[in-house]
Amino acid sequence: MHLRVELLTVGHCLHCERMARAGGSWGKVAFPAMAALIWHPTQGPLLYDTGYAEHFLHATQALPERLYRWVTPPVWTAEQRLQAQLAQRGLRLSDIRWCLVSHFHGDHVAGLRDLSQARFLCLREDLVDLRQHGRFAALRRGLLPALLPPDFEQRCEYAEDKPALRLKGAWSALGQQGYDLFGDASVVAIALAGHSPSQMGLKLRDDSGRELLLCADAAWSRRAWQCEEWPALPARWIMHDWPAYQRTVRALGTLAKLQPELMILPSHCEASLAEYRGMAR
Ligand SMILES: [Zn+2]
Repeated sequence: MHLRVELLTVGHCLHCERMARAGGSWGKVAFPAMAALIWHPTQGPLLYDTGYAEHFLHATQALPERLYRWVTPPVWTAEQRLQAQLAQRGLRLSDIRWCLVSHFHGDHVAGLRDLSQARFLCLREDLVDLRQHGRFAALRRGLLPALLPPDFEQRCEYAEDKPALRLKGAWSALGQQGYDLFGDASVVAIALAGHSPSQMGLKLRDDSGRELLLCADAAWSRRAWQCEEWPALPARWIMHDWPAYQRTVRALGTLAKLQPELMILPSHCEASLAEYRGMAR
């Protein structure tokens, strides 16, 4: 099944470039916060993550959460707000039927509370991780539980409970199996562990017939797997599991080599997002 995919930038955060790659500058660069709008013929409009939203400011108003905002200050324009970008496409926030959550860092889930009619899908381990830590430990991991709607668990389903699908050919670089989220093989969830305990990537085919892998923060830049450029030291501390992160990046590199026409799209890689938008025009 071919799905229309639109990559929205819902705000940016400003950070020194070295955080994403050790060879980068100390100067601040803008990292886009990506949300993908996926048009599914029977499931309705879906989102993969939400990017930033006002809730991030509320959740980081007081110390110690305020530190999160100091370290990764977010900026967005009125037109970049999720609601405005959906409205441009004739959609309301309440039209979103599903939000597929890559992982629970603030820049990926800040808008969940605005999706009043959506159900959620994630990998179980990431939600367990969010719930098991106290306030400080959660914050150190980039987690802000206040961003989740109070009934999140009631509205959430787990990718692992969906039919397993064997990953074949080049895709087996990422592991043995993915999860067929809607039972039609249109959107396959693949665990890309390391940045967070599981982290859900999505394999799908767009309406031009191109295969895509939305890989969220499995790498912050495609240079990670193209040139093995790793984030600078402070950024490594926030990784859930650094060796697993490196294994995942190398697996992306193997996949990219074996399947050069595949578009692998990290959520914060401006160059990748721009290239895909250029192709989609
Ligand atoms: Zn992120």
